[in-house]
Amino acid sequence: MKFRTGYGYDVHRLTEGRELWLCGLHIPHSRGLLGHSDADVALHALCDSLLGAAALRDIGYHFPDSDPKYKGADSKLLLGEVCRMLRRKGFEIGNVDVTIMAEEPKINPHIEEMKRIMSEVMNIPEDDISIKATTTEGLGFTGRREGIAASAVSLIYC
Ligand code: MG
Repeated sequence: MKFRTGYGYDVHRLTEGRELWLCGLHIPHSRGLLGHSDADVALHALCDSLLGAAALRDIGYHFPDSDPKYKGADSKLLLGEVCRMLRRKGFEIGNVDVTIMAEEPKINPHIEEMKRIMSEVMNIPEDDISIKATTTEGLGFTGRREGIAASAVSLIYC
């Protein structure tokens, strides 16, 4: 068996008048993330880590901002497509580990539901999905609540 790892990172700005979507789940909050799609920063980082593991470029390459097709797009659909791309190439997904960096809202109460959603979209067991959250202690753009960042690591094999 051949193992491969990939890393992904993404940032979106917090703004009023937008819904907040993280790991495929709508979280009621006073502000949401700005972006061409639903701006699910966590799923975007995850997509990039999976694509990186397979050396299949990045999310912007496959789903460009300039394409009206992806305006307001549900990032779960993008993640599902990325998983299909990997499987078409003969890869299977081992495990994924996502970290969300945000001062607010609290992520922990939502993690089980997020894992359930991602498990269905990716067609892998919940046990192979890790979601973590951290603040950045008030430091930087995440600390100033200007935006939310996410990173992800994925292991795939063939
Ligand atoms: Mg993004």
